[in-house]
Amino acid sequence: MRRLTLTFAAAVLAALPAMAKPPEPGIRWQHSWEDAVKEAKERNVPIHVTFHKDNCPKCTGMDASVYNQKDFIAASKRWVNVYCNRDTGHGTEKVDGKDMCKLVPGIACADHVACDSGASAGGYFKGTFGTPATVWCDVTGKQIGQNQGGMSAKQLIEKMAEAEKAVGVGLGEDEYLFLTGKLSAGEKSVTDGKIHDAVDGYTAAIKAMAKNPAAKPWVEKAQAALDKLVEGAKSRIEDAVKAKDAGDFAKAKEILKSVQTDFKGQPVAKDADKAMADVLAADKAANPRK
Ligand SMILES: [Zn+2]
Repeated sequence: MRRLTLTFAAAVLAALPAMAKPPEPGIRWQHSWEDAVKEAKERNVPIHVTFHKDNCPKCTGMDASVYNQKDFIAASKRWVNVYCNRDTGHGTEKVDGKDMCKLVPGIACADHVACDSGASAGGYFKGTFGTPATVWCDVTGKQIGQNQGGMSAKQLIEKMAEAEKAVGVGLGEDEYLFLTGKLSAGEKSVTDGKIHDAVDGYTAAIKAMAKNPAAKPWVEKAQAALDKLVEGAKSRIEDAVKAKDAGDFAKAKEILKSVQTDFKGQPVAKDADKAMADVLAADKAANPRK
């Protein structure tokens, strides 16, 4: 188990430069209710929703005693997290040149306003409630349970554990970011013509997540993307064989060399090795003095 964890940690570290942005050190709050439901479905995890407003001492209490707690932040990676607040009077601060919410780390004020209107409009929750209020939901955003008033980190983790049980096995946030990062980096590498980078990225994603049942759809996506590249390699090998048959040995060698480089370590590279041996033999037979 320990070894698996270390392997995964190494894989995540290796993936970081390729990811759009390293994960936030705190809770990763969603940018909209629609984003939250989309991600919850993709990961099969419950949604944790909290409703706050400004000038609400119990809300401020939860900001200071729940959402910044190490244990709570670690647990929050097993869910999707939504912070709803329609107030913006608390102001903004510049982070990396962007106007970010001064109250809720990692999002803009427009995000918690959007979450509030999205979550409130959908008819997902039962009854009306004041602030703070916490709702735990299934992957579609439908309420499983709710609490009005302040909660401790421990109480909230317990309630979310009930929601997790109802939803079933889900994909953790770090694993989700790792996989989506690898897949989008792979697509970009293909667009940029860096096939070797794409092959390496997809292979790393498949290897790191092969034993995680919640990652299956993502592993299948990476495998499908890799298979497509391998198909391309096979057709390049066929082109090389055609070039060899036409007597263009230089072209055949060039194509096969590129397949060997791009697919190093993959079974299809062995096919390229074999084709290369044939080209060298044919070249030698056609040009004995070379
Ligand atoms: Zn704000």
